[in-house]
Amino acid sequence: MPKKRITVIAGDGIGPSITKSALAVLDKLNCDFEYDFADAGLTALDKGKDLIPEETLELIKKNKIALKGPLTTPIGQGFRSINVTLRQKFELYANLRPAVSFPNTNSRYENINLITIRENTQGMYSGQGQKIIQTSHGERAEALSIITSESAERILKFAFETALKRKLHKVTVVHKANILKSTSGLFLKVARLVAKNYPAIQMNEMIVDNTCMQLVMNPYQFEVIVTTNLFGDIISDLCAGLVGGLGLAPGANIGDDIAIFEAVHGSAPDIAGKNIANPTALILATALMLDHLGENEKANKIRNAITETLKSKDRLTADLGGKASTTDFTNALLERL
Ligand code: NAD
Repeated sequence: MPKKRITVIAGDGIGPSITKSALAVLDKLNCDFEYDFADAGLTALDKGKDLIPEETLELIKKNKIALKGPLTTPIGQGFRSINVTLRQKFELYANLRPAVSFPNTNSRYENINLITIRENTQGMYSGQGQKIIQTSHGERAEALSIITSESAERILKFAFETALKRKLHKVTVVHKANILKSTSGLFLKVARLVAKNYPAIQMNEMIVDNTCMQLVMNPYQFEVIVTTNLFGDIISDLCAGLVGGLGLAPGANIGDDIAIFEAVHGSAPDIAGKNIANPTALILATALMLDHLGENEKANKIRNAITETLKSKDRLTADLGGKASTTDFTNALLERL
């Protein structure tokens, strides 16, 4: 059988070093993969290519599975997020972000196991109608938030199906339909319809601001959270904070045909080039990728090795209170695989 080919975008900032760690883990597990390395973002610009070169898009399309390091997006101005563009271009409508407790992470809670499922292509991130209009009083900024019943239905079904697959019993639909009556209102209306097809699963409705408070006060009441793009982006970082920080939070961008696996965190420019980033989030993303490919045994090996490495505390990275470099931590993990 030909080997499975995977597109690898190492990204920028801490991306290349954590990608090296993630690939070392896959190699250690003797995964039958071949890698096609592709550029995007700042590294592509540095090489005189487009932000998202055509050959990168072709490789994602051809291989259907990609592992991606973080990509920097300039704040306030400059080019549009490549992450958002890739999600929209390949219809990667489901952003799955598990938050699971590991030992010795200085987190406030133990034994958390919840998943945020974020609609990944619409809402406030639709990218449409963004303009600044000069008025007699100054400037007015506008952007369109778009929710369609079709995309709401597809992400809500995905959330309920994920709950079924993982033998979970509760889906919390997070919204702001009291204020955002059209967009959040439509999302909630569709949620109530979709929930009728899943009688074995309890659907809870919760307003987003209350959800943030509830997550901090009592995260154990949640199993699967499903929500629109912006709320999901914020809530999933909050959930990462509950289990020890962004260094431990993986994500998967899943469509019907193509999937891209990445860490929840960004390019961390404040620690880039210092070999001190925690590679765990991207390594956990490779475990999600293995799950997606039906290689659950190998995925569990990775999660167990991370548990053992963190438990033994011998080489923790700085975000977890240790002094180990990215390389040291990766070696500690490889020794346990
Ligand atoms: P960030 O996630 O890069 O960093 C936030 C904080 O967490 C920083 O203090 C950073 O040092 C720390 N951190 C993040 N990952 C870490 C790791 N693996 N180990 C240890 N510490 C870690 O968020 P930011 O600073 O808001 O964004 C930086 C850039 O990343 C921006 O350009 C943003 O657009 C981009 N970004 C990209 C993605 C993506 O590629 N999917 C996601 C989020 C942000």
